[in-house]
Amino acid sequence: VNNHISPIFDKRGKVEAATIVSIDISRQKELERQKDEFIGIASHELKTPITSIKAYGEILAGLMDKSTAPIIVQLVTKMNAQVIRLVKLIYSLLNTSRISGGQLTLQLEPVDLNALLGEHVLQGQLTTSKHHIAFVEQQLPLVFADTERLGQVVDNLLSNAIKYAPKGGDILVRTESRDDYVRVSIVDFGMGIPKAAQEKIFDRFYRVKEASTEAVSGIGLGLYICREIIEKHQGRMGVESVQDEGSTFYFELPIYRISE
Ligand code: ADP
Repeated sequence: VNNHISPIFDKRGKVEAATIVSIDISRQKELERQKDEFIGIASHELKTPITSIKAYGEILAGLMDKSTAPIIVQLVTKMNAQVIRLVKLIYSLLNTSRISGGQLTLQLEPVDLNALLGEHVLQGQLTTSKHHIAFVEQQLPLVFADTERLGQVVDNLLSNAIKYAPKGGDILVRTESRDDYVRVSIVDFGMGIPKAAQEKIFDRFYRVKEASTEAVSGIGLGLYICREIIEKHQGRMGVESVQDEGSTFYFELPIYRISE
């Protein structure tokens, strides 16, 4: 039960009475649990067939050559792009249900951030011709991280920077080494985020309700997953943003020490 107690004061400022509002949250919690369970089962069941469809699509693409009718090439290419979107969506749901079930595990190892960022920047650049992603390597200590999960965080932040700067433009990937952590920032000059929404965007399923966002597809899980992954690394994640000017998403990771 959640109790909210508010005092009522008399004219001299003495407490005269109080109101108590009790909200029974057990039903709310049960609904939340059922929702998590449903997301878990549904995404798990969807994973197998969609993985097969993706593989068949890749085989089909591999069978195409100069003699293939252009309409078939066009349809197979479009189909494969949509299947990749669907796979990403299903994995987001699956990750969310793992997080809420406490099953997100990390395989920590010393990681060279320059190599990891370089690789993901290159992949990100392949998905857009309107943006230019700039990344300059700096001398950095190793961090202690799960390469795959960290790659997922970088991919997510880059794809958001691309999605929410629909007119195109520069995207900067910066690194800074401090005393005992390294900070990675991803800067875009897109639509930005209103002040009031800046903390909420890390909540599950939260999306900024600006008309401009409505046209951009998504389900509001990416940043929630990113923050959970970074916090699981004993790191920190945040945003600085000015509406209509752009956003800087950053995360900080502890430096790898030999004793670990
Ligand atoms: P999704 O992109 O699927 O909606 P996210 O959790 O990645 O989910 O992002 C949540 C919300 O935060 C987005 O819907 C968008 O409103 C806002 N947002 C995220 N990244 C950016 C960005 N780089 N610029 C502006 N808004 C952003």
